[in-house]
Amino acid sequence: MTTLFPTYKRFNLSVERASGTIVEDTNGKTYLDFGAGIGVCSLGHRHPDVQQALESQLNTYWHVSNLYHNPIQEKVADALIRNSSGDQVFFCNSGTEANEAAIKLARKATGKHKIISFEQSFHGRTFGAMAATGQEKIHSGFGPMLEGFSYAPFNDIDAVKQAIDNDTAVVMMEMIQGEGGIHIADPEFVQELVQLCRQNDVLLMVDEVQTGIGRTGKPFAYQHYSVSPDIITSAKALGNGVPVGAMIAKESLHDAFGPGSHAATFGGNPLAMAAAQAVLKHVFQDDFLQEVAEKGTYLSQRLSESVGNFSGVSAIRGKGLMIGIECHQDVSPLVGRLLDEGLLVLSAGSNIIRLLPPLTVSEKEIDTAIQLIGDALMD
Ligand SMILES: *Cc1c(COP(=O)(O)O)cnc(C)c1O
Repeated sequence: MTTLFPTYKRFNLSVERASGTIVEDTNGKTYLDFGAGIGVCSLGHRHPDVQQALESQLNTYWHVSNLYHNPIQEKVADALIRNSSGDQVFFCNSGTEANEAAIKLARKATGKHKIISFEQSFHGRTFGAMAATGQEKIHSGFGPMLEGFSYAPFNDIDAVKQAIDNDTAVVMMEMIQGEGGIHIADPEFVQELVQLCRQNDVLLMVDEVQTGIGRTGKPFAYQHYSVSPDIITSAKALGNGVPVGAMIAKESLHDAFGPGSHAATFGGNPLAMAAAQAVLKHVFQDDFLQEVAEKGTYLSQRLSESVGNFSGVSAIRGKGLMIGIECHQDVSPLVGRLLDEGLLVLSAGSNIIRLLPPLTVSEKEIDTAIQLIGDALMD
């Protein structure tokens, strides 16, 4: 009996405690966590630096409102700007909120209202971000979507050309579609898209909610391409488990968001900022990111060797520590079996196993996970 809305299909696991890559349930059974709370706990559970930053902030103050200056917000914003194409930041509390801010900014700055996004994309569950999400099943039952949204097939430049007109404000994309099945943007497509946007005075907005904060071995996944987005959104891993979101935008958009344009009571909350500051200090370092890239290559290669030629597996895709194993069948029984065996993994779509281990994962943990995945797929 539960008094919660049944909005989630939950696995039979109740967590008692967690540390690093390990989660322990209420029966004392332990699991290797290769989902990291859906790409949130990127430094592992209760990373000591983040914990210390939170404890220290708990002893000073928790909240004062955005009516006053907030030096920690400035510091986190500086770290985001130094590691991206953006020049200023708006803080909020989640991915969908970051995308709402981006949609509002794009419309206000351009004076245009149309938004092009992609089929199988995922941008969140509130009305603007839901409208931007190119998945019918997510719109279903919620009446008319917001006006002005359309969806092009991913990596299809001709479709974007056809969709763009004088009312187009922004093209919104994930460099690697996460929920949609680990589909990677084609570099040539991105290049042509940049040109197309420039020619038509259309902004480019990259949703880095899942791919950002080191997940792919760069601060943001767009940095694998030669592109300089006008707007970037971040959330998930930014607080390593403390709710926080951010919208980062270029200087040219500065004046569109003046006092009264947009706000969030909890945006830039000091506890969230303390966590984010500790996260960014750790993640945005060349040697750390280099290790993420190397571990990603190791994981992909070992996976390909051990399960790549299984008849049930059709493809292995990914970048850094964001990896999808596409199967011919529905993977939910497999995800359930791996949980029984002590490995937490995610799915994407119906037939893709998605791995988002903490970026701090060890080679030994990767080996254990591959062994378990191989055994499960074998059966
Ligand atoms: C998870 C996700 C979101 C939504 O984030 P919430 O914090 O759940 O609102 C938006 N975009 C992408 C790419 C995501 O992966």
